[in-house]
Amino acid sequence: MSRVVLVTGGSRGIGLACARAFEAQGDRVAITYRNKPVDDLFSLRCDQTNGDEVDAAFGAIEDRWGPVEVLVANAGITNDTLLLRMGEDAWREVIDTNLTGAYRVAKRAAAKMVRARAGRLVFVSSVNAVMGAPGQANYAASKAGLIGLARALAKELGSRNITSNVVMPGFIRTDMTAALPVEWQQMAVDGVPLGRAGEPEDVAGVVTFLASPAAAYITGAVVPVDGGFGMGH
Ligand code: NDP
Repeated sequence: MSRVVLVTGGSRGIGLACARAFEAQGDRVAITYRNKPVDDLFSLRCDQTNGDEVDAAFGAIEDRWGPVEVLVANAGITNDTLLLRMGEDAWREVIDTNLTGAYRVAKRAAAKMVRARAGRLVFVSSVNAVMGAPGQANYAASKAGLIGLARALAKELGSRNITSNVVMPGFIRTDMTAALPVEWQQMAVDGVPLGRAGEPEDVAGVVTFLASPAAAYITGAVVPVDGGFGMGH
């Protein structure tokens, strides 16, 4: 395969593992980042809270390789605190990055996919979208929103041969989870039937599957990658 793939937030963690997995299949892979590019990947600085930067990143990919054929909307942040201490800034920052950012990149990608009558959209949500987690009202809401977004797009775009699916990772070993207190990390793993944290590659395997020809008849699906934590939810 030599499709044009964009992985947002592909500079580290789950996004980087996805980028490497597509690259290994022979796809042409671009990533977006905010702080640090990846030297051997086509890296575009793009803060997805800014629509102009999103547009410029897609434009640069189109100039080099043509339209994006597979979009992995992976970039995301946390800003955890309990509801009663959560100011509107923390709420807005997480919703704007995780949910509105995904809307921005999906809209930009879909415009060309509709014309091509083909495309794959994969959104990286979280098991906390459906399980909830204390201190993550903003994050859980943003990640639950991605499920609604993906399913609306599955129905809007299905007739154009564009699939729109969601992966729902559980506790995955990345910088995001390394920032949590060690006791919390242990508690998270204790709740996992498979008895270990996930690795970014565990998620990348499902993302590449959903973008593959084998998944041509799957759309609107929400696929957990959580070691059994959510028991299929
Ligand atoms: P990391 O914190 O390791 O990486 C996040 C990536 O997103 C980085 O590349 C970062 O860029 C990028 N990013 C953040 N904000 C923006 C922005 N405004 N515009 C563009 N890029 C941005 O996270 P993970 O790899 O752990 O997580 C990846 C995705 O998976 C996230 O959406 C996360 O919510 C989700 N997830 C993670 C889980 C886990 O256990 N790790 C569990 C469930 C879901 P930069 O490096 O420049 O900051």
